[in-house]
Amino acid sequence: MPLEIITVNKIRERFKPAGKGIWKDVADEQWGSWIWQQQQRIKSMEQLDKAIKVTDEERLAFEKSNEMFHMGITPYYATLMDPEDPNCPVRLQAVPKIGELTILPTDLEDPLAEERDMPVPGITHRYPDRVLFYTTHNCPVYCRHCTRKRKVSDPSSASQLAQLESGLKYIEEHKEVRDVVISGGDPLSLSDDRLEYILSRLRACDHVDIFRIGTRNLVTLPFRVTDNFVKIVRKYHPVYVNTHFNHPKECTREAFDVAARLADAGCTIGNQTVLLKGVNDNPAVMKELMHKLLLMRIRPYYIYQCDLSQGISHFRTPVETGIDIIESLRGHTSGLAVPHYVIDAPGGGGKIPVMPNYVVHHEGKKWVLRNYKKKEYTYLEP
Ligand SMILES: *Cc1c(COP(=O)(O)O)cnc(C)c1O
Ligand code: SF4
Repeated sequence: MPLEIITVNKIRERFKPAGKGIWKDVADEQWGSWIWQQQQRIKSMEQLDKAIKVTDEERLAFEKSNEMFHMGITPYYATLMDPEDPNCPVRLQAVPKIGELTILPTDLEDPLAEERDMPVPGITHRYPDRVLFYTTHNCPVYCRHCTRKRKVSDPSSASQLAQLESGLKYIEEHKEVRDVVISGGDPLSLSDDRLEYILSRLRACDHVDIFRIGTRNLVTLPFRVTDNFVKIVRKYHPVYVNTHFNHPKECTREAFDVAARLADAGCTIGNQTVLLKGVNDNPAVMKELMHKLLLMRIRPYYIYQCDLSQGISHFRTPVETGIDIIESLRGHTSGLAVPHYVIDAPGGGGKIPVMPNYVVHHEGKKWVLRNYKKKEYTYLEP
């Protein structure tokens, strides 16, 4: 069903509809159906050839990588790709590249030690009061930069139901858990019934305060955010939604409309961007992205340094690039537009913030600081 439009004003006008591209003859009802979008996903070279002008490199990369990590692109997300430009930032995130086949000696199979901190299948419990809960291995689009490549898109995960139960039981038994990050894969790959089951079981735990739904559907399949889904979410507040926009091109009218729908339903929406070479490793692109997110009522939360997972080294930038991006934002634009730049520490150390150094000198009660214009100021502690 085409989405009911919630916000109609001149801000909405600034967001251009993605449109249907080569699917222009498909009826609106079908196009706007997330089930149809899932069924019509591009998974083969024959399908991809129809949507874009595939390069030899992409063809080879697909052949060599598809066994290990599938390609999957929703028609909606495919319309955001430039059919002519292999370096299109959306295309880089969705179509295999030869760089994926390189495994560097510094790469790690499980860089964040998510498996080591797994008390039961489906839960990573690293921090004192919150857990990461894996609810599915599926996603509408398989991001080429995915940190969980070793798990995501793996069809051999027949025991997902068992894993769900063991995760729920763990949370129910661990009274210290007050915050549950519902993750995956993408939890919105699950049916509404399954999602409601999870939310209701979690809300029944007196010790669980908040949940966050970590989903990229706002970016890759906005039609998934249906009236029914939003109706469910409303019953279990406070529900936070964390999404994953990486480039201003992804901020379409369609995305704007579903963000409005979630915000109007009382969700606080945050965004986690992954710093990716060739996609967003540039202060101007990042600033535009952060500004667009704020217009969509989405608060920038994290920028992640690309981690040490295997097969994503071609996306990695120097850490300096991330620091420079924060430097270019802080003070120069709304503080609301400045996320935390973090490195998820290899070996399971968790997220560690990295930022420009604003403390020039500190001695006793004297702090010499510098501002965003690099001018120095002294603060004396009383
Ligand atoms: C990111 C993460 C969280 C949530 O961390 P916040 O900083 O609270 O957003 C929790 N558990 C694990 C294992 C994580 O990787
Ligand atoms: S949506 Fe998230 S879990 Fe799924 S492929 Fe993309 S980055 Fe990985």
